[in-house]
Amino acid sequence: MWAFPFSLFSTNLGIDLGTANTLIFAGGKGIILRQPSVVARQKKTKKVLAVGEKAKKMIGKTPAAIEVVKPIRDGVIADFDATLMMLSEFFKEVQEFEKHPFKIFKPKVAVGISSGVTEVERRAVRDVVLGAGAIRGFLIEEPLAAAVGIGLPVEEAAGIFLVDIGGGTTEIAVISMGGIVVGRCLRIAGEEMDEAIANFLRLKYSLLLGEATVEEIKIQLGSALALPSAKEERQMVVRGRDLETGLPKSVKVNSGEVREAISPILQEILSQISEVIEEMPPELVNDIVSRGIVLCGGGAQIKGLDKLIAEETKMPVWVADEPMTCVVRGCGKILENESLLRRLRIGGK
Ligand code: ADP
Ligand code: MG
Repeated sequence: MWAFPFSLFSTNLGIDLGTANTLIFAGGKGIILRQPSVVARQKKTKKVLAVGEKAKKMIGKTPAAIEVVKPIRDGVIADFDATLMMLSEFFKEVQEFEKHPFKIFKPKVAVGISSGVTEVERRAVRDVVLGAGAIRGFLIEEPLAAAVGIGLPVEEAAGIFLVDIGGGTTEIAVISMGGIVVGRCLRIAGEEMDEAIANFLRLKYSLLLGEATVEEIKIQLGSALALPSAKEERQMVVRGRDLETGLPKSVKVNSGEVREAISPILQEILSQISEVIEEMPPELVNDIVSRGIVLCGGGAQIKGLDKLIAEETKMPVWVADEPMTCVVRGCGKILENESLLRRLRIGGK
């Protein structure tokens, strides 16, 4: 036994390398890191200046010599070096957290990947986790990881209908017996809602807003359905630049405007959900009608989205608890369970 100090003191880490956020879950400890997937670096030398929250705060405020990049786009590694730097920095933080006199930091990791990615893109994810210092890296399709995180019985021959609305992608999946029976990975999600809001306000008020402000508007005022009483409609004052005069300008934005702006995005997600329902094997329909459609990811928190989907599909719909952490908690749980890991990992069985 002493010949294998690694296994004796090894760390198991679940990782969600998301377009918007990266999360890390450690067995026995829970979520130990939660940071935006953002890197700030020197343009010329590529030297990293900041990652995560600190880098996100720099968006739109950097001098010409510094660039702020989101290295993961639409669920795929778009900038390998930046992703590697970012994850290496995150591992350093985790290592501080995991400090132990006998422990060598060589984590075994399970990382969630978008179900729509190619073999080459998958390899890039594995190379990044190994490059950042993991001793082993298992890849798990995100809808499966999310379902495990939520506590749904993924291995049973019973249908689970999951919709994960993230920053860059929306994954729609029907799961049964440890696999995805029907699925879609759409490249429309939270970021497209932000763009729709920015465009709407630019056209209506000739107002140019920063990225962070637009996201805040969506989080504060976003809704999918008109609220039952007009009194519940909310508003906020936002400041940006007047495109005509070039001067600062404040505008009062209300939830009705935000709803109008994001409605085409929600409609597109809805129509894809309906198509998946139509493609679903009839044997699974009963299970799904009784269990309902489960929503997760940051975008699932748009107020009234569950009701809108329920109205359109005539099925029960519910939002998972802690919708932004389902994938990482699932990855963590899968690592703790040998047989589940063997079953769910890509290239496994
Ligand atoms: P990813 O897995 O792609 O990293 P997440 O599941 O972390 O994405 O979700 C991030 C997205 O969710 C972002 O677009 C963010 O703006 C959005 N988001 C976060 N909180 C809310 C909220 N309360 N309402 C609406 N959208 C939200
Ligand atoms: Mg995600």
